[in-house]
Amino acid sequence: MTPEEWESVCDGCAKCCLVQLQDEQGEQLVFTDVACDLLDDGACRCGDYANRSTRVPSCISMNASNVEEAAAFAPPSCAYRLLLQGEPLPDWHHLVSGSSSAVHEGGHSVRHRVRFQRDVDERDLESYVVDWPAYKT
Ligand code: SF4
Ligand code: SF4
Repeated sequence: MTPEEWESVCDGCAKCCLVQLQDEQGEQLVFTDVACDLLDDGACRCGDYANRSTRVPSCISMNASNVEEAAAFAPPSCAYRLLLQGEPLPDWHHLVSGSSSAVHEGGHSVRHRVRFQRDVDERDLESYVVDWPAYKT
């Protein structure tokens, strides 16, 4: 894949920009509705994509060489994760539907559903655990 083709696989859900925690057993990652401060939650885009790694060192940039490792931190609906698992893209994915807004209209993205790290106390993160980012479709 060219870099452009690789980027085009991303569904624009921005679920990977949510803070994750380990569950009580320490075995599984769970999602919160707390988003990275750099996220534009209306557009579901990074506010500084080119410099994200330096602005947010914990940000995982998924690429062809690390996709297997990085996909473990992605939501079940992540297009890269689905392709890695040999599963089809969902009907709302823009490469299937032809519409880049279908992901938002179908409620599959974080658009306007999140709070930001800057607004929460890190000690309260467990209070913000949610299950919707783990929905596959
Ligand atoms: S979870 Fe996957 S498909 Fe969704 S925005 Fe992140 S990288 Fe793209
Ligand atoms: S730096 Fe950008 S891409 Fe990385 S988690 Fe934050 S908003 Fe998402």
